[in-house]
Amino acid sequence: MDSSALPEFVLPEAEVPDLEFAGIAAQYQALKAHIAPRMAAVLSHGRFIMGPEVGELESALADYCGAKHAITVSSGTDALVAPLMAHGIGAGDAVFVPAFTFTASAEVILLLGATPVFVDVDERSFNIDCANLQQQVEAVKREGRLNPAAVIAVDLFGLPADYDGLNAIADREGMLLIADAAQSFGGVRYNRRVGTHAPVTATSFFPAKPLGCYGDGGAVFTDDADVAAKLRSIRVHGQGTAKYEVVCVGLNARLDTLQAAILLGKLPALDMEIAARNDLASYYDAELADVAVTPLRPEGHVSAWAQYSILVDDRDGVQSRLKDAGIPTAIYYPRPMHLQPAYAEFGSGEGSLPVSEGLCHRILSLPMHGYMQDRTARRITEATAAAIG
Ligand SMILES: *Cc1c(COP(=O)(O)O)cnc(C)c1O
Repeated sequence: MDSSALPEFVLPEAEVPDLEFAGIAAQYQALKAHIAPRMAAVLSHGRFIMGPEVGELESALADYCGAKHAITVSSGTDALVAPLMAHGIGAGDAVFVPAFTFTASAEVILLLGATPVFVDVDERSFNIDCANLQQQVEAVKREGRLNPAAVIAVDLFGLPADYDGLNAIADREGMLLIADAAQSFGGVRYNRRVGTHAPVTATSFFPAKPLGCYGDGGAVFTDDADVAAKLRSIRVHGQGTAKYEVVCVGLNARLDTLQAAILLGKLPALDMEIAARNDLASYYDAELADVAVTPLRPEGHVSAWAQYSILVDDRDGVQSRLKDAGIPTAIYYPRPMHLQPAYAEFGSGEGSLPVSEGLCHRILSLPMHGYMQDRTARRITEATAAAIG
């Protein structure tokens, strides 16, 4: 990237609210000069739906991650459901998904009448465990009731999943592989940015994600021109080439022009922000490795650090002591998908996915963003070490 295109930073020290959990206000202080004029331009031209910023953003996103096609949509959830629709996933299909994830990864499967099969995760990467995935595929095949149709792999907390293992299993079993990169856009795997590691990659621009807008938004990436064309049709009610021709059942899933404009203001800063998040993660690692289990940093992988999550015993006590010390934290996630009331009938109950269940009791996420000052990071690590005791 041309470094002259990088935004200049305005960080009036006293005014920056950098103890925020996700740094959204601090980021706006830093990038305001790039975001606000973009928003004003949309208010002036008035093309709020599919205005010129939408196409401009799609080109910029595709260039950024190296995918042939970027199709923006109205949320990360739509970015998952639309490719499942494009591939005709529905009743009778089994879709494999990790149990330790956000609900949207599982919800989209049920929305289409397909059956979720919950898979355990790796204890250290928090991502889908390929050995358990293979076992679950074998079990579905043995039972013979469902067709193993797709895998939704999640890059949890921003760390890309094991796509060598995942692509091998998906290819061998004839399954579609979708990367749920809602948390990992801007991350890297073996010198390639997130967006091209699976045949379809879905991301979210929810405000707190590594690349966030100021509302809901998302995008799908693929190198397949036919899939891209289907996705462009699905996001506008299944529209055909003529305006009121309907060629398939679709959605109203367009990204607003205003959100596209905001993202165009933020995208040039993303690499710098990811680098700052990585520096903060290294600092947390160094300061906390003696008192907690710190996140895995596999060689060749750069996390987008949507979350920096440690494992501690007495997690609820640690969280409440940190709250008393004025440090915001979060629990992603308190309950695995197979034990959620809405999905329990598709799982095998307590004890069936022990790694996911154990993580839900010990996980704790600390403030993480690209605009934190050193003294704030020090305050957080000192309070965390004290809270763990
Ligand atoms: C945020 C998130 C989604 C959904 O994105 P939305 O934009 O909120 O619809 C899906 N999967 C994962 C893993 C997420 O973190």
